[in-house]
Amino acid sequence: MNAKEWLTKAKKEGFAIGAFNVGNLETLEAIVAAAKAKKAPVIIEASPGESSFMGYNNLVDLAQNYKDEGVAIILNLDHATEFEKVKQAFDAGFDYLHFDGGQLPFEENVAIAKQVVEMAHPKAVMVEGEVDHITGSSDLHTGEKVASEQVKGNYSDPQKAREFVERTGVDTYASFIGNAHGLYADEKRLDLNRLKEIRQVIPDTFLSLHGGSGVNQEDIKAAIEIGVNKINVNTEMRNAYRKELEELLRTSDEVAMYKLYPEIIEEVQKVVGEKIDLFGSAGKV
Ligand SMILES: [Zn+2]
Repeated sequence: MNAKEWLTKAKKEGFAIGAFNVGNLETLEAIVAAAKAKKAPVIIEASPGESSFMGYNNLVDLAQNYKDEGVAIILNLDHATEFEKVKQAFDAGFDYLHFDGGQLPFEENVAIAKQVVEMAHPKAVMVEGEVDHITGSSDLHTGEKVASEQVKGNYSDPQKAREFVERTGVDTYASFIGNAHGLYADEKRLDLNRLKEIRQVIPDTFLSLHGGSGVNQEDIKAAIEIGVNKINVNTEMRNAYRKELEELLRTSDEVAMYKLYPEIIEEVQKVVGEKIDLFGSAGKV
């Protein structure tokens, strides 16, 4: 099944596919281990920074190796703000491209998103677009209340979302309804009424929810019920990785790092597995 077929299945059956960021091989192995254990489809995503670090072609080949083993993987370029990065991922063979023009003037955003769609769709590659900038960053902001970050952006305007989708033909719309990127001192709450309004005006478009770390679990379930089919998670995994790494370095003299990684992978896998359960994607493969 290709990316669109998986998202279509998710929409029909009312679950969300977890979109998990990778910045290194261990994290990729953790996601794949969770996907196998839970029999769940997963979106493996890498930002332009993460993709440059790992290598665009390397990511495609790694994903392909796991696909050959029967793991349902969609490889997604996450938050590319420039056309040339999107093109680089497309040329390498990514399955799904997120062009983030959320900080550009609306007309410029529309023009580039349209160009991405024209490039991607003939090859059945999916495109995600964004209008109102999703605030925050995939880091720990544990000294801050999430509201301080939420107010820095405008929540998605349903009418603007409709115009954007109609004019560009993107497959997925990335809504901002309180889902700031990163982990904060308190839980994120979502504006579910806003999400319903967006769902109503673009009923045929897939909806994604970024900033999936640290969101109230009932809000996540409600968002999936309303129609979110892709939920992005990064910071909670990064945090689990780093905490376990610090612990291991403090308590071990090992220099063969690969011998330490299984314990890190296990911790990251736990985070991914919990998300898969919450998103309702377990058992779908
Ligand atoms: Zn994001």
